[in-house]
Amino acid sequence: MQLIFMGPPGAGKGTQAQLLAALWKIPHISTGDILRACVVAKTDLGQKAQSYMDRGELVPDELLMDIVKERMNQPDASAGWILDGFPRTVPQAAFFDKLLSDVGGGASSSGKGCELKAVNLDVPDNVLVARLLSRGRQDDNEQTIRRRLQVYREQTAPLIEFYRNREQLVAVDGDRQMQEVTAELQKALSGDS
Ligand code: ADP
Repeated sequence: MQLIFMGPPGAGKGTQAQLLAALWKIPHISTGDILRACVVAKTDLGQKAQSYMDRGELVPDELLMDIVKERMNQPDASAGWILDGFPRTVPQAAFFDKLLSDVGGGASSSGKGCELKAVNLDVPDNVLVARLLSRGRQDDNEQTIRRRLQVYREQTAPLIEFYRNREQLVAVDGDRQMQEVTAELQKALSGDS
């Protein structure tokens, strides 16, 4: 199982990705979590990333590409994974395609026998803002939230078409109870889907 979770900030990607990863016994790889851990550890990367994250901007693609490449090469990623927060731009998606075809040989994200799916969790803006304000993470203040939503629309939302064109998109309504969303994801992603 190779799953990409897309959706605006606050859509519930992290929660659903974590649940399904535990259920399917595959790693949940969240680039947001990795970046926040680097910030806390004050690594070079963390120091570079922090100012972007605090402003609600995307961290530059090159930094993310290094992180993802290293993480995908770890042994636990060989049987599958759920990627949460990556790719988030068209260049990141192109990079990721190439990485998968290099790493996986036959298991490339395009072409025959591919098992990659990209889930989009759809949630209206007013619900997102309310959810993020109640979550209260360091980058969850009103100004940053607005910027993150704008960045999402400009840079990440085009990926929905990108994966739809490749018939890899699974679109799910995320404006429902958590358990209902989980159930729908399980239905859409398991078995012969
Ligand atoms: P959310 O989706 O709730 O905004 P994340 O935890 O996924 O939160 O990401 C938090 C921040 O980390 C983002 O606002 C961005 O600055 C940075 N980030 C995470 N993933 C990426 C990525 N793939 N490309 C660029 N920046 C990223």
